[in-house]
Amino acid sequence: MGNKLKVLVVEDDSGISKFLKTTLTANDYDVVMAADGKSALGMVASHCPDCVLLDLGLPDMDGNQIIQSIRNWTAIPIVIISARTTEGDKAQALDLGADDYLTKPFGTIELLARIRTALRHTRTTSPSEELALTGSYHVGDLLIDYHKRRAYVNGTDTNLTPNEFRIVALLGRYPGRVLTYKHMLSELWGPLASSDNKILRVHMASIRRKIEPNPNEPVYILTEVGVGYRIAESAQ
Ligand code: CA
Repeated sequence: MGNKLKVLVVEDDSGISKFLKTTLTANDYDVVMAADGKSALGMVASHCPDCVLLDLGLPDMDGNQIIQSIRNWTAIPIVIISARTTEGDKAQALDLGADDYLTKPFGTIELLARIRTALRHTRTTSPSEELALTGSYHVGDLLIDYHKRRAYVNGTDTNLTPNEFRIVALLGRYPGRVLTYKHMLSELWGPLASSDNKILRVHMASIRRKIEPNPNEPVYILTEVGVGYRIAESAQ
């Protein structure tokens, strides 16, 4: 079938790559495999995959180099699958241009959800098509209205400040996607903005008091500890 989406799996662990191939094939993706960085880069060019699943620890190259090389010429979605779990590792890969990050071991449902999300929004595209059509983003009882520049919960205005609205609006443009602190600060306050995350944390605490049913257990804007924030994706 020519209309299947093609995923390039870059993984040197044969057990994991077998699992990924089986899982993705069963879920109707075309799967191509690479076990090292050099062949991965070649296959991105020759096979034009729709998405890359990338392990960071490869025999010949660091995955971060691969992200950089790919980003030099294409915005194809890249989802990292890695045993590296530190916040710094995740933030680095995302800031280099990866779309999302899964820590091994991960479950099938989560893997498929992240791939679908990455396929929907590549990093460099403008606001999602849905948003362009409706001018709003809706998840659960939360509605972000881009024309009125207000956010509502159950139809009631949440009275976000202009800066709070800008933060929520930015996240709402990328449903389900983690945005790093660095990326957000730069989008909101320009490339020369301070890299201090404190301003985001302070605003987020206030935003959560206004939009979350329980600010201590947020359901709309989720924290990726040490990395950034992700707005929940509406069920489809
Ligand atoms: Ca590896």
